[in-house]
Amino acid sequence: MMHIRSKLSALALVAALPLPAQALNLFACEPEWASLAGVLAPEAKISSATHVYQDPHYIEARPSLIARLRRADLAVCSGAALEAGWLPALQQRAANPDVQPGQQGMLYVAQWVETIDKMESVSFGVGHVHPEGNPHLHLDPERMRQAGAVLSQRLAQLDPERRDAYKVDYLRWSMQWEQKLADWKKRAEPLRGRKLVVQHTTFDYLWRWLGMDVVADLEPKPGVPPTPGHLATLVKQVEQERPLAIVHSWYQDPQSANWLSERTGVPVLSLPSTTAPDEGVVTPADLFEHLLQQLLELERAG
Ligand SMILES: [Zn+2]
Repeated sequence: MMHIRSKLSALALVAALPLPAQALNLFACEPEWASLAGVLAPEAKISSATHVYQDPHYIEARPSLIARLRRADLAVCSGAALEAGWLPALQQRAANPDVQPGQQGMLYVAQWVETIDKMESVSFGVGHVHPEGNPHLHLDPERMRQAGAVLSQRLAQLDPERRDAYKVDYLRWSMQWEQKLADWKKRAEPLRGRKLVVQHTTFDYLWRWLGMDVVADLEPKPGVPPTPGHLATLVKQVEQERPLAIVHSWYQDPQSANWLSERTGVPVLSLPSTTAPDEGVVTPADLFEHLLQQLLELERAG
């Protein structure tokens, strides 16, 4: 009798100790979600399917990505069809029931955070259009904060033993974020009303947040690469509008932007469209700080 009782109390003692539970395995479709998870779930094992020099619209469903998704407890992707060309194939081949659409382990951020520029009807032509709205919502610092709240909740649901830790990390991060937002907004004041030429709708959320105006897109239609004919029509317009810069993403070929710059004298600005840990742009805050500094530097020079 005594023997059993002491055994039971020993078991109760063990159960009360914190479990060395395994950290979550998180698969991010894009670097920004890996970076956000790095702040909100520092213990998790996190990997990103893509990097800053890749076009997230077009990714190959490589075996290594399939293997990574197979092991994942949680997949975090932008959604709004950004990954429509490659994620479904990965999900199917990984055959991991946890990360299929509709499961708790599959988080499409755009299902929880409002997108801009939704299309009522889509005419199917060339290029990739975004009928569910612009999926590049991580480039709005306000929406990034909303995404942080959604991700933190999802982490707690999937890993309830760390619920309190996720909450603490989120509260700390969102308080810091609030302060940064105010600081960025103040410093960005000189950019308000300035014009830009872009290549794709990648940074539209950021321009909106900064109060900057897109006057031309090097893409004749969203997702259609620039053509000589289209570029030629922009020369006169760009000369008249005098935008601050011709912006392209690090993953894009700068050739078209350079061509237009040579003919108009408007400088080219190459920006990272997501975090780039190898380049020192590690956290979401690093990304906005980098983007803001690049724009302000050009504004001061101009
Ligand atoms: Zn896009």
